[in-house]
Amino acid sequence: MFFKSKLKLVIMTELIILALISSLFIKHEIDKREAIFASMYDTEKNYIKWVDFDVSYAALNKAYEYDVNSQSEDVKINWIEVLAYLGTKYGGDFSRYKEKHMSDLVEKLKNGETMEAITDGMKHYDYYFEAYSAVLEGFVGEYEIEVPDETSPEGKKWEKKYGLKAFLPIAKYYPYSHFDDIGVSRSYGYKRKHLGHDMMGQTGTPIIAVESGYVEALGWNQYGGWRIGIRSFDKKRYYYYAHLRQNFPFNKSLTEGSIVQAGDVIGYMGRTGYSAKENVNNIRTTHLHFGLQLIFDESQKDGWNQIWIDCYDLVQFLYRNRCETVKDQETKEYHRVYDIKDPVAQYYIKRSIYDFDDDEFNIRVYE
Ligand SMILES: [Zn+2]
Repeated sequence: MFFKSKLKLVIMTELIILALISSLFIKHEIDKREAIFASMYDTEKNYIKWVDFDVSYAALNKAYEYDVNSQSEDVKINWIEVLAYLGTKYGGDFSRYKEKHMSDLVEKLKNGETMEAITDGMKHYDYYFEAYSAVLEGFVGEYEIEVPDETSPEGKKWEKKYGLKAFLPIAKYYPYSHFDDIGVSRSYGYKRKHLGHDMMGQTGTPIIAVESGYVEALGWNQYGGWRIGIRSFDKKRYYYYAHLRQNFPFNKSLTEGSIVQAGDVIGYMGRTGYSAKENVNNIRTTHLHFGLQLIFDESQKDGWNQIWIDCYDLVQFLYRNRCETVKDQETKEYHRVYDIKDPVAQYYIKRSIYDFDDDEFNIRVYE
């Protein structure tokens, strides 16, 4: 009797110690997560400081299909919400992605559960939603585009669509190769990390605007060579296209402040850069350096707080939307075959030029 109760006591004590240890461990894990999170969000200034965009090609594709296919149904699925939910669950790490996690969520939503109720108590959902929105917001929506039509004299007609309106940065039918290369260090000037994505191809390949926006930078930069920087109209994304062709780098109609639409030809692939002197081919392999920077606060545009995201999976996803181009034999310039009307760009196109400090613009964007 005595022995039995003593044994019970020992087991109980052991269980309590075990529970204490595991709760300490869990607390440590939570603290660690919170510390990581604190480095990603500035709670004082209220903006995102850092984003690891790790959403996989498979997850992007699947969420996108749910979104597009649901447009004719009662319950519309928002692909960014779906990805943000999974991002929160995975602590941003999409190596944990399983298709079933996504289909289970979509099932709940289709059965009438709201995203608000489902994410209730998920502390970092708002962060992931804001971060992923900053990356993907300009990619999907309504737009009008020309499509082939044999019955019309021009061989094309306008069609209203919903879906992916962002394009692959390389024109259709032009070969390229690429691999996951963010963070690989480079040695020109001083040792620094590679903040973008390289796409190897042939000199002269037409380079396509991924998203609509305005030309913020155009000209020579000692690292990027001839480079063009295009900012989205909501100002959160800065697209950087570098090492463009010697002598004829850009579409000649473009200047700083020009408006471009997704799919427009903005320049040509080359190998300029790594030189303080202009128009020098100092890059060994012809390639497009494509970068995507997120800006939540203007202080993040330049300096040490820049957020450049990994574009490999994004670029793979964009492959489903390639822009066909044709050469103008007189000007030697390439143009898109099928024109687009991107609603977000149409307003500014009417005014033909964009002024960064224009109050009217700011009011329109933020209203
Ligand atoms: Zn590069």
